[in-house]
Amino acid sequence: MTHATGTLYIISAPSGAGKTSLVKALLEQTDNLRVSVSHTTRAMRPGEIDGVNYHFTSREAFVSRVADADFLEHAEVFGNLYGTSQSTVERTLAQGNDLILEIDWQGAQQVRRAMPDARSIFILPPSRATLRERLTTRGQDEESVIDGRMALAVDEISHYVEYDYLVINDDFNTALDDLKSILRSARLNVSRQVERYQALLTALVS
Ligand code: 5GP
Repeated sequence: MTHATGTLYIISAPSGAGKTSLVKALLEQTDNLRVSVSHTTRAMRPGEIDGVNYHFTSREAFVSRVADADFLEHAEVFGNLYGTSQSTVERTLAQGNDLILEIDWQGAQQVRRAMPDARSIFILPPSRATLRERLTTRGQDEESVIDGRMALAVDEISHYVEYDYLVINDDFNTALDDLKSILRSARLNVSRQVERYQALLTALVS
């Protein structure tokens, strides 16, 4: 039996844009959609689970994977290494599932070069003030720490023009609908529909 090939989505956003919650809701509400679990050398945060949030790994193991060309893309973000497994991406798409990569702009550039059919989405906060507020909610931060997070966010945002779609996360449900629309329109593409409706098309044109 042949399977339709899924679409690869890159989703990037500055920290504080609400990307993680949006992707979580999108996954819960969409069939045949998966998210890639990245490899990282950063320390596990409270509540995170190895193999679920990330595959947590040592720097040595990560570097050896890079040497073995196991990663579709990899990058250093905030002093830690992050990478996407090439074989997992290939397997998931070959099974006919769409796949989301939650990666930064550096990884996005590499994936676009390797897989030109990938679609890329950038999620933005609705204002600078909202972004600052979202980066502050954790409480007892120093002003200088928040300024540092803002600078990193602005640096990530400066790459928005490289993406195919821009979604503004002001109202959560509107942003979620926007993401669903992007996925739906790709699924209506002729080449995808031909695979799905082969029998109908044959019957209609015979
Ligand atoms: P965090 O450590 O807060 O989960 O993620 C920090 C940043 O690393 C985010 O911008 C996230 O998109 C990015 N990131 C997570 N996984 C990957 C990956 O596999 N590749 C790349 N290039 N960036 C990643």
